[in-house]
Amino acid sequence: MWDVNELWMQFEIMILNKGESILITFPKQFLIGESCLIIMGELAAEQHAKYILTIEKKKDDVESVLMEHLRINGAYWGLTTLDILGKLSAVDQETVISWVMSCQHESGGFGGNEGHDPHVLYTLSAIQILALFNKIEVLDIEKVSSYVATLQNEDGSFSGDKWGEIDTRFSYVALCSLALLKKLYKINVEKAVRYIVSCKNLDGGFGCTPGAESHAGQIFCCIGALAITGCLHHVDKDLLGWWLCERQVKSGGLNGRPEKLPDVCYSWWVLSSLIMIDRVHWIDKEKLVKFILDCQDKENGGISDRPDDAVDVFHTYFGVAGLSLLEYPGLKAIDPAYALPVDVINRIFLN
Ligand SMILES: [Zn+2]
Repeated sequence: MWDVNELWMQFEIMILNKGESILITFPKQFLIGESCLIIMGELAAEQHAKYILTIEKKKDDVESVLMEHLRINGAYWGLTTLDILGKLSAVDQETVISWVMSCQHESGGFGGNEGHDPHVLYTLSAIQILALFNKIEVLDIEKVSSYVATLQNEDGSFSGDKWGEIDTRFSYVALCSLALLKKLYKINVEKAVRYIVSCKNLDGGFGCTPGAESHAGQIFCCIGALAITGCLHHVDKDLLGWWLCERQVKSGGLNGRPEKLPDVCYSWWVLSSLIMIDRVHWIDKEKLVKFILDCQDKENGGISDRPDDAVDVFHTYFGVAGLSLLEYPGLKAIDPAYALPVDVINRIFLN
């Protein structure tokens, strides 16, 4: 199910500054845990920032055209990566914000690009991008939150858009959007939580609908939604923690389901879930750091799903975000539930 979202990965971001030279250096020695000092392969941070900042130059290639409808998701991945790397200021924020606002539909929701149909997935990306720039106030918050609230169904579930497909991904995205806008009261949170809990399986994991098999991407969505609503007590943390830590394979990478290949994007989904349920010490962090670093294109920047595959912005984001969760030095901390830098979340909720 979630593999469909691998389609999200390959496309470009428009409107990023051109060619600015970026210099970030990281120490070669990297401390993990309390006492063990290890020489790690370095994160090619400078190259990754350059990779993201120059992606727009490729916007006429076939891949980019195919992925045009996902551009706002790509912008969120790229911009969040830059922020974690400490390079968000290299972007022309006025241009980005006016483009984001041009993707808004009259219903209040956002499309993946200008003139595209609105969907809750794109709406969250729009909110997250504005949050990165501390510009949520440019939104008509009533209108956007009402759009999201109308997607809730009688059983508490959420549809992604007016066509009605239901998935726990959309529950997470809706709850995260409304929480960031401080408008959770516009929906029935209790029913939303009850629906998510109804998707819990005997193995401790969660699926996209009741009875659907457990999958790491879906687990992130359900755990994130329960974390945002303060309902993690519904989770059997040991049982789920065990299922999640079994996702680590020999190479150190994580897979999304039993018998599948490891993939950098699960560094985010599995790791953030383990952090939210306080079981992250159950995996081998050093090996996972090494796996992510092995997936870098150190010369041209970018991170791929597995070593030696082609890089894309989706896996670059999840690789860098995963390293941030692993407390890799020099990176901003990222919030495991909201998927935004911790300072951005603090600015929203502590102000
Ligand atoms: Zn992947």
